[in-house]
Amino acid sequence: MAINTAYRTPVLFIGHGNPMNAIEDNIWSRKFEALAAQLPTPQAILCISAHWYGPGTRVTGDAHPSTIHDFGGFPTDLFRVQYPAPGDPNLAQRIVDRLHRYGARVSLDWGLDHGSWSVLKHLRPHADVPVLQLSVDQSLSPAAIMDLGKALNALRNEGVFILGSGNITHNLRDVMTRWGATEPETPEWASSFDTNIATALEQHDTSYLMKTVGTAEFRQSHPTPDHYLPLLYTAGAVDSSDRVSFPITGFDFGSLSMRAVLFTPEAV
Ligand code: ZN
Repeated sequence: MAINTAYRTPVLFIGHGNPMNAIEDNIWSRKFEALAAQLPTPQAILCISAHWYGPGTRVTGDAHPSTIHDFGGFPTDLFRVQYPAPGDPNLAQRIVDRLHRYGARVSLDWGLDHGSWSVLKHLRPHADVPVLQLSVDQSLSPAAIMDLGKALNALRNEGVFILGSGNITHNLRDVMTRWGATEPETPEWASSFDTNIATALEQHDTSYLMKTVGTAEFRQSHPTPDHYLPLLYTAGAVDSSDRVSFPITGFDFGSLSMRAVLFTPEAV
């Protein structure tokens, strides 16, 4: 792949929320579609999904990654969804080489999980760009994740679109208490956590993004950190000169932040 320094991809973190957003026509799927119009066509997409959370740094290496339906209790139609984007084994190997100090390895045991395809169904509906996933390594500290994200930065000069997929607040126990409510209220803990993260992002305050992990406020918004950590990978891959915008804001089920964060190179 030729390196084109005149073109540098943006970086996006997106709140994926309910898997049903993949197939429903709702306010979130419409916002995903509107966001697609703001994004250039990349050479490849590297998605860091909250749903590939475990030990080790892995990159999907299949030429034709399978669509993984990594959930239960949803309608049959959701299990029928396919996202037949190609992979890119050569790019996977180059990313692994770039991340060798994290013990990165190519994986043939994963594919595209719903953290990827539930949003890519709307962002790239024709599945016409190669998609790779990078695992979220539960053994890395927030600082190490941010450092790993920095190692991904140069991929942006090669047209690789780095996409983090999680949610800025994600407390499923709270979500279940509000499931089905017509106009669920947003609790103060969720709105303040979401606002504080947004402020830190606008100010490129990466130390705040790291040091919040493990605090009492954090644990209320994230009983487990899997949906937050993709934000650190993406924040690591940005430049302090990138413009920060929030093309999607708001909460689903009252407390589930659907905020999307777009980091755009100054020159674009
Ligand atoms: Zn999720």
